[in-house]
Amino acid sequence: MTDNAKHSLLRLMVLEGDGIGPEITSATLHVLEVVNDILALKMTFVPAEVGLSALRSHGTTLPATVVEQATQVDGVILGPVAHNDYPPAAQGGVNPSGELRKRLDLFANIRPARTRSNIASPIASSFDLVIVRENTEGFYADRSMYEGMGEFMPTPDLAFALRKISAHGSYRIARQAFELARQRRRKVTTVHKANVLRLSDGLFLRCVREVAAGYTDVEHEERLIDAMTALLIRDPRPFDVVLTTNMFGDILSDEACELAGGLGLGASLNLGEAHAMAQAQHGAAPDIAGKDVANPSSLIGSTVMLLDWLSTRHNDPRLAQAGRMIDQALDAVLMQPALRTPDLGGNTGTRAFADAVADKVRDLAE
Ligand code: ATP
Repeated sequence: MTDNAKHSLLRLMVLEGDGIGPEITSATLHVLEVVNDILALKMTFVPAEVGLSALRSHGTTLPATVVEQATQVDGVILGPVAHNDYPPAAQGGVNPSGELRKRLDLFANIRPARTRSNIASPIASSFDLVIVRENTEGFYADRSMYEGMGEFMPTPDLAFALRKISAHGSYRIARQAFELARQRRRKVTTVHKANVLRLSDGLFLRCVREVAAGYTDVEHEERLIDAMTALLIRDPRPFDVVLTTNMFGDILSDEACELAGGLGLGASLNLGEAHAMAQAQHGAAPDIAGKDVANPSSLIGSTVMLLDWLSTRHNDPRLAQAGRMIDQALDAVLMQPALRTPDLGGNTGTRAFADAVADKVRDLAE
């Protein structure tokens, strides 16, 4: 056990973000505080401002002190951010999500999607898969350059976007996927478009194949992104770990999440060698912000993933136990239609939903 685990003092930074961010973050913290008390984990929560509120108070959506602190804490919980509403960078608009992923070198975005009995899905079959998405390069204009943006416009009627794929980035995300597959059903499906993006996805695929050769106990198959979007809808059951580049992963995970019941259930963890950040799969959902109707399951589930990562990192099984308790409580509450939030057909508010999960955590502890 590390000193940190022995003396507790695990510090989690909490960034509310924009839109429904404050509501689902507060719901998540409520549940975390209950498990923290019950298991005497002595975690401390370090709140800080990012997004539009930080722009008003600090002149930037991502103050430098927040980035600095994020490198020093044990983990980060980030609420969704409305970066499309931010002003240009020169006026303080920085995407906290992309920037933190880059600055903390959170190269893997782990996005699980599974059906739950009793929750309606657009398809009949139940499934359980995880999308492992490269997180620091690809087609994201804020991630492909050391300085400047990977998108430019020589004339008002002409625009270019650069896509970055590196061997280093491809090897490490591939290893992450194959290691994860070993803890699951031992199958990796690599999704690409190397028939068109011959050089960039060709490089990605070459690296993945090299890594796959070292995992003879894991089945490996390859699918084109266009075919994969159809296969996923037709029958998601055969898929276990889906490995892909940044933007394909973003799109596929929304599809998988929707098939599993809806975006409000979409948990995810951004992880690197030294840091991890829990973050819901969805955006800031401005259409429902401030109405106490958002489903906080996404961020609560993301935090369960963070607790699991912290448990391994600090060799402290109590943290994994905390995660399991929250997960079971979440499952139990979601099983009851009357306790669900409106996106899942219920009429329970965000706060009341969090109360129900917290109560269930207490029941499980007895
Ligand atoms: P971004 O581009 O930032 O990912 P987006 O345009 O994809 O954002 P979201 O904010 O993810 O949009 O929302 C898409 C839809 O899903 C909206 O109708 C929103 O209300 C709904 N939604 C997203 N998250 C939740 C949630 N936690 N609970 C309920 N509904 C949600």
